Amino acid sequence: PSGAEPATKIVINLERLQQLPAEKVGPLARYAATIQSQRGDYNGKVLSIRTEDLRSLAIIYDMTPGELTEQLIEWGVLPPEARPAKED
Ligand code: C2E
Ligand code: C2E
Ligand code: C2E
Repeated sequence: PSGAEPATKIVINLERLQQLPAEKVGPLARYAATIQSQRGDYNGKVLSIRTEDLRSLAIIYDMTPGELTEQLIEWGVLPPEARPAKED
């Protein structure tokens, strides 16, 4: 594979997400809020989401899932451990 790899386990830091400007994280924040609402899971500091959701979010952000993973790590929304081992 070439370029950034997508995260294997996606655990979103909800507290960090709230600190970031809406023009950056708006779509992600709305997506996470929708999942919280669908699950009735409102009290967590983190939210585990589906690998499939990363693919949907990548389309929304016009990135590959690997690029979005890197972006989310840069923002502190995903921990660096979410980055799969690199081959380069
Ligand atoms: P883990 O997956 O590493 O999650 C660690 C802690 O992060 C959880 O502790 C919980 O406090 C928080 N957390 C992770 N994802 C979410 C989320 O989507 N919503 C909320 N509100 N909190 C989240 P907890 O609950 O004591 O669980 C400890 C471990 O038990 C988890 O470690 C996981 O290995 C297992 N576990 C708990 N619930 C599930 C589940 O629904 N499915 C599976 N497969 N394992 C689960
Ligand atoms: P659903 O997809 O029909 O899932 C029904 C129930 O199956 C969920 O109820 C949950 O108890 C269980 N379930 C399904 N997949 C998993 C999984 O990977 N891990 C665990 N631990 N449980 C799973 P719940 O949580 O009340 O969610 C209700 C509905 O909300 C789901 O119905 C789905 O439509 C939506 N939803 C919840 N979480 C997510 C998510 O992370 N991503 C997406 N795309 N939808 C979600
Ligand atoms: P998890 O609960 O440890 O589930 C790990 C993987 O097992 C899921 O990865 C999925 O591939 C599979 N899996 C578990 N339960 C189900 C199920 O009911 N139906 C199907 N089709 N597959 C299932 P995935 O999808 O990437 O989800 C990652 C994590 O996101 C889950 O870890 C769980 O913590 C959370 N999650 C995903 N969907 C839901 C949901 O509907 N409700 C809740 N409460 N948590 C969910």
